[in-house]
Amino acid sequence: MSELLQQLIDMSRTLADPAWDCVILGEGNTSAAADESSFWIKASGTQLNRADRNTFVRVQSAPILAALDRAEMGDDEVKQLLKSATVEGERAPSIETFLHALCLDLQGIRFVGHTHPTPALSLLCSQQSRELFAGSVFPDQIVLMGPSYAYVPYRDPGLPLATALREAISEFMDAKRRVPRVILMENHGVIALGSTTQEVLNVTQMLVKTCRILAGTLAASGPRFLAPENVQRVDNRPDELARRDGFR
Ligand SMILES: [Zn+2]
Repeated sequence: MSELLQQLIDMSRTLADPAWDCVILGEGNTSAAADESSFWIKASGTQLNRADRNTFVRVQSAPILAALDRAEMGDDEVKQLLKSATVEGERAPSIETFLHALCLDLQGIRFVGHTHPTPALSLLCSQQSRELFAGSVFPDQIVLMGPSYAYVPYRDPGLPLATALREAISEFMDAKRRVPRVILMENHGVIALGSTTQEVLNVTQMLVKTCRILAGTLAASGPRFLAPENVQRVDNRPDELARRDGFR
């Protein structure tokens, strides 16, 4: 088995550790760029906590990305497309393969972890979900995840969600001039992006901690966001940039 696949398996099992409270049963999915034109993605009907070689299939990126430009596709058409794009493995790729293809297409991103952490869902399912993530509340949040996140309004899983995700990423990159580390999906879950598996794990952990802190602030009159100049200083401090590199 390739080292890459082993890394993906290890990352998946860590994300599914019950202590992390990120996924149960078949929840969540993970992926890794295999080469220039294909990636490994969790197969449908598998569980991250039992991840092994047979949990993942390898699919071609191009036909998956191209589907996002097509007019609406029926369920059978989507299934057929996912099947024909699969180049290694017997199982059907996850319905969220489209979402992973988009994330892995971003510069510097080689691993993706999509989970449903309870502390994150508590906020993403709330009335003020967008507002709660509109600022940063403590420095390490900025160091690990950047000063802002891409935010996707609720859409059904599969192509509708991937289409909305593409829009959210493009808006984020136009506005912030950088690749997001975190994508928040309203009433659904989160995506952590990284160049290494460690980065995906670090971002996920820090995101969960941030959500717990935000929930705590709601019992004490709500979050007090750091001032923009403070956020900028942490984001651009040379020692913080070095620390960020050290986290990889
Ligand atoms: Zn999900």
